[in-house]
Amino acid sequence: MNFEDINAVKELLSQPQKIVIIPHKNPDGDAIGSTLGLWFYLTSKGQEAHIIVPNDFPKFLKWMPGQEEILNFERHNSQAKEKLQAATLVFTLDFNHLGRTGQMEPLLEALQVPFVMIDHHQKPEDYAAITYSDVRMSSTCEMVYNFIEYLGDKETITPEIAKCLYTGIMTDTGSFKYSSTTSRTHRIIASLIDSGANNTKIHNQVFDTNTPSRLHILGCALKNMVILQEYHTAYITLSQEELDTFDYKKGDTEGIVNYGLTLDGIQFAVIFIENKEEGIIKISFRSEGEFSVNEFARAHFQGGGHNNAAGGKSDVPLAETVRAFLGHLEDYKELLSN
Ligand code: 5GP
Ligand code: MN
Repeated sequence: MNFEDINAVKELLSQPQKIVIIPHKNPDGDAIGSTLGLWFYLTSKGQEAHIIVPNDFPKFLKWMPGQEEILNFERHNSQAKEKLQAATLVFTLDFNHLGRTGQMEPLLEALQVPFVMIDHHQKPEDYAAITYSDVRMSSTCEMVYNFIEYLGDKETITPEIAKCLYTGIMTDTGSFKYSSTTSRTHRIIASLIDSGANNTKIHNQVFDTNTPSRLHILGCALKNMVILQEYHTAYITLSQEELDTFDYKKGDTEGIVNYGLTLDGIQFAVIFIENKEEGIIKISFRSEGEFSVNEFARAHFQGGGHNNAAGGKSDVPLAETVRAFLGHLEDYKELLSN
């Protein structure tokens, strides 16, 4: 964040504001952790702030401090709209184009108040008065930590803020192992532990919460995995029927895509998940090394994200989506054999 933007934020926060904080649709640990961390910070500064999530978030995050305050745009629609209409300042976290908020997009586009974007995805759009965008960052939670530091309030980080930010850094870095994890990430993590984040407890609350449905779906997914050695690629499909058979609940498929990358020689892993209700196939892409799944998702599946982790979707049936994917793979054969 440059000086000008820091001063502009300071100026905005020197007045009482009605703030709304928004993460992306299908919010993950980083999205929920960063919005809650920022919410605790802003309310501790005496600001009125509300979090609105476009839709529900997984059960493994429902222990987080402050989570009961979150408004769900689907479930608390009129209340959420009311807060949006009254807002004088909007923070958007962990995404960089308004389409990522799903049904909230038209309402956000119509708002005539300043937006502040804090995000680490590629190619930010130009909707915010203040854009704090940095693709080198491990997570939006790391950026919220920086944000608080830039405003001179690092010493005021409470145990609640620490727990929220710790959680998002942990989930977005695959527990501190992805290449976006820097020595500074670890220093921030150390300071969050000092401020009251209990690392072992948080890890257990997020990862040791398996349910029968989650494990059965994982089993089904691994059985369905197709390995294409010549493309250094592994992909998984999960049909709506399979999800229903195993009593799918939100969050059950989180992280499954990563299994493909644990195979020797596999650089590109994909999961296709059928969602009959939305009439789409939701896709997650992961890679190791140079191959940019952000580019791949942008070029072929209406998505984007980071170099090594991205998402997208398809509007045609599952089998057809996979066929299209296989067709595209041929064009990347050379890139994938590097
Ligand atoms: P996941 O596969 O875990 O849902 O998402 C991986 C990364 O890609 C995350 O950083 C997520 O925010 C981003 N992402 C997921 N789905 C989409 C999408 O449909 N569009 C864009 N632009 N990014 C996505
Ligand atoms: Mn993130």
